[in-house]
Amino acid sequence: MHDATTRYIHAGRNPDAYCGLVNTPIFRGSTVLAKSYEAWEASKKDGNPYANYGRFGTPTTRAFEDAVAELEGGHASLVFPSGLAACVHALLAFVKAGDHVLITDNIYGPTRAFVSNVLTRFGVEVEYFVPTIGTAISKQLRPNTRVVFTESPGSLTFEVCDLPAISEAAHAVGAFVLIDNTWASPLYFKPFDHGADVSIQAATKYIIGHSDALLGTATANERAWPLLKAGAHDFGQTASPDDLFLALRGLRTMPIRLQRHWSTGVALAQSLETHPAIARVLHPALPNDPGHELWKRDFLGASGLFGIEVKTKDPAVLARLFDNLTLFGIGLSWGGFESLVVPVGQPLRSLPTDSQGYLIRVHAGLEHVTDLLEDFHRALDIAFLSSRVAVA
Ligand SMILES: *Cc1c(COP(=O)(O)O)cnc(C)c1O
Repeated sequence: MHDATTRYIHAGRNPDAYCGLVNTPIFRGSTVLAKSYEAWEASKKDGNPYANYGRFGTPTTRAFEDAVAELEGGHASLVFPSGLAACVHALLAFVKAGDHVLITDNIYGPTRAFVSNVLTRFGVEVEYFVPTIGTAISKQLRPNTRVVFTESPGSLTFEVCDLPAISEAAHAVGAFVLIDNTWASPLYFKPFDHGADVSIQAATKYIIGHSDALLGTATANERAWPLLKAGAHDFGQTASPDDLFLALRGLRTMPIRLQRHWSTGVALAQSLETHPAIARVLHPALPNDPGHELWKRDFLGASGLFGIEVKTKDPAVLARLFDNLTLFGIGLSWGGFESLVVPVGQPLRSLPTDSQGYLIRVHAGLEHVTDLLEDFHRALDIAFLSSRVAVA
């Protein structure tokens, strides 16, 4: 098998089918005409890739879904209009009233809101587990546990979960294991080799990579695919062909971008760890991080997203810090070419955490590492060292 970098260049492409064009073109369409009654009837048969209506996808859709399925290492993929839609519809495809769902306590906030506010309204019982639970998850599993949903590392607090241990226990009661794999991307974590049944990507992040579109994907193994596919089609979700084109374009350079996000992120994290205003850095690729051993065992690399905890909650100091950063934008999302910070404060949890300071999420972009280091240290110095109280 070729190296990942090579596979990202070739996945999902078929120039022979499109007049030799290197990239699969943008196909727009709702109506798909059948040549005859017989062709119409045949178009309804299962397994027909373009079925008989635009909602089921076009060659642009299929090119992206095929590429993602190959790169995640799953059986087949579906695309959704956003990462959150992929999380939500993947969950909905598996549960019914009376089921029990276990979800990691460091889950992406809007996914948490969906399970807490919506799933519970439909009679699904939701319970959280600590991300570092490992084999002890058996104690929370029940005969009616249908889904175990995890995210590793969690995108605000960066704990790594032991997916093989969780999966083994979950499968013993017949549950499906869903993982939000956005942090590592399909490049740096292979969910299906570690027991997942469904892997979700917010393609908005590293796959699209340029902060100019939203998409999500859900990829299933053979066991989960029929349920995922049927469930998603019932909800009528589609994705814009223009956004799909951008996602396909993003894939081609993703391994090169990720390499840079990884090295810059680690350099930035290591350097920030030495600053007196920083209580702690949350990054599983750092040797003293609690998740480091699991990260080393299961992951092939790290993305550019990590957390820092600063030793103050004083809004004046925080404002000085954020407002003196010149290369880090203040904003949501991540995975684009530009560096970002987002004020988090205290992450939303149902179980106690050990975080005391003020949490900031950092995304290391593709700028030069020296410029980013200088910018961050300068802002920290201005914010903290001009105020003796703050670092106490
Ligand atoms: C951003 C994000 C999502 C949601 O993706 P959108 O495209 O913004 O809806 C889901 N999970 C994680 C971990 C994310 O960071």
